[in-house]
Amino acid sequence: MRAVSEIMHGKPREIFLTNTQTGRRERLETLEPGKIRFYSCGPTVYGFIHVGNLRAALVSDLFYRWFKRAGYAVNFVRNYTDVDDKIIKRAAEEGISPEELARKYIREVEKDYAVAGLEEPTHKTRVTDHIPEIIALIGKILANGKGYVTPSGEVLFSIEAFPEYGKLSHRNLEDNEAGARVEVRDEKRSPHDFSLWKPAKPGEPSWDSPWGKGRPGWHIECSAMASKWLGQQMDVHHGGEDLVFPHHENEIAQSEAASGQAPYVRVWVHNAFLNINQEKMSKSLGNFITARDFLTRFGGEVARYLLLSAHYRSLIDFGDEAVENALTSLERLYEAKQKAVQLQGLRAAVPDLRAEAAWGQFAAQCQDARRAIDDAFAQDLNVPGALGAVFTLIRDFNRTLGEPLAQATPSAILGAGEFIRVLEDSLGGLLGIGRSEPGQALERFREIRAQLPGKGGLAKPTADEIAEQIRLRAEARAARDFAEADRIRKDLDARGVVIKDSPAGTTWQYK
Ligand SMILES: [Zn+2]
Repeated sequence: MRAVSEIMHGKPREIFLTNTQTGRRERLETLEPGKIRFYSCGPTVYGFIHVGNLRAALVSDLFYRWFKRAGYAVNFVRNYTDVDDKIIKRAAEEGISPEELARKYIREVEKDYAVAGLEEPTHKTRVTDHIPEIIALIGKILANGKGYVTPSGEVLFSIEAFPEYGKLSHRNLEDNEAGARVEVRDEKRSPHDFSLWKPAKPGEPSWDSPWGKGRPGWHIECSAMASKWLGQQMDVHHGGEDLVFPHHENEIAQSEAASGQAPYVRVWVHNAFLNINQEKMSKSLGNFITARDFLTRFGGEVARYLLLSAHYRSLIDFGDEAVENALTSLERLYEAKQKAVQLQGLRAAVPDLRAEAAWGQFAAQCQDARRAIDDAFAQDLNVPGALGAVFTLIRDFNRTLGEPLAQATPSAILGAGEFIRVLEDSLGGLLGIGRSEPGQALERFREIRAQLPGKGGLAKPTADEIAEQIRLRAEARAARDFAEADRIRKDLDARGVVIKDSPAGTTWQYK
């Protein structure tokens, strides 16, 4: 009752989120009433993003849409990492500058985001636009005695000067002290000290700084961009679960060391990974799927359903069965919507008492479903719960409608309209599904079904992707990088594609 009256008085509703730092579901208490400062770590742009990156982006979009629906003014920042070792390496391979390469792939990622139906954040930021802010932040960390400059000109964060280090990930750093995975260099005072500023290497992008020419470390960028656009503290910070350590742990250390204000983030939220046919997606396993390939195959709406219908903290196991299930659910939704649209188009019949009562009850069920969707979202974005409410309503609609198609009494037409609004606005506004014209949507689902290959077939690359791989292989061969050329050939082979070289060029076929 309280939540409803709050909405009626224009107050935002209560939201509960599972905070990674405490492991508990907590009520979000915002820094400023009615406002949410929200940051999500975006991709490093050195190539096409993969479907795991797409899941993270869609989850950030889901948070954004829900916060707005719940009545908050949201300041949402999502970044692009556009300077990084991988970008520099790939740019050298493609024979263009790192800046050009990053710009190219930001354009490609934006195309994917548009097809996936992501809303525009308040600010889309790039690291290379924030070098002065990054330098200023490193200056503060040094001034507060939380970092040091090595003889070779690298600026490092000093873990020993920040005793709370580890409070997000709860790692016991002694466990892997100087272990195999931690590189110990002579210049580091402690093996976990991490780079804030790296001295320039020949041929790499670099900027002037008080510590000489160089470029920022990875972690400092998010601290700098967040404080510029959101302030020194924020309400919610999101990322994929692989970012908890060290990236987000280091963000906390940097930001709190610089500002002296804690907590840097009130609630940390992280989305789980995505497996493909029960295996972790990886290039070496040959089950690596780009977002482009995924979106081309399924279109935005099916892609959204596949990546958002599970709870964001649950592992998604993606495979043929998941696609079949998604199609079945969406077909059920759109078949009902199609009937509702048809009903609206009928000529109004004379009211019938029994039908009026049934449709009156259905209108109340629509109200209940609306409330159930929002209540489910308020509890840590419980999408499965919201979908459950919608599929119950679909069953109620089909039952009320009866067979053959109901008489179009005035209350039946009203009920159909209410039902469509639940699908398009209540659910559709949050999940970005249910808003298409039913005939066209059903036709598209049939096409996707027809193309569903047998078990494991989903990992097969498309013709475009194969052509791109063949092009990269030719480049590698021209550069006499035969190891890389061979890797590409083996990758394709593992994914069911055989390539053949002949004097006329390279051809390919599926096995
Ligand atoms: Zn980040």
